Amino acid sequence: MKKRKLSEKTQSFSLKNKKYSNPCTRCGKERVSLKSWNETITNFMNTTEVTYTETICPDKECQKLVEKELEAQRKKKEELGLNRKNRLKKPNRVSISITKPSKK
Ligand SMILES: [Zn+2]
Repeated sequence: MKKRKLSEKTQSFSLKNKKYSNPCTRCGKERVSLKSWNETITNFMNTTEVTYTETICPDKECQKLVEKELEAQRKKKEELGLNRKNRLKKPNRVSISITKPSKK
């Protein structure tokens, strides 16, 4: 019984470690971390520190292709976002106020 529990523990531990692994979506190679940085997000009540990690594929050619795909996706999203914004933009929402008093 005890042995089984131990093995279960190690299994869950290795599973946890697997969660952190980030294989390349193209070739399946383990991606290497390029850089990581911390950012503090401030809400009304508290501040949360978030760690970002940028990972790249060790295969340079593969990484180039991945980046191309990501860039294309980003552009698509941007275009969609802009379209949505334009649709929501109503002319009557635009208000112009002149605070400068006119001199005579
Ligand atoms: Zn790759």
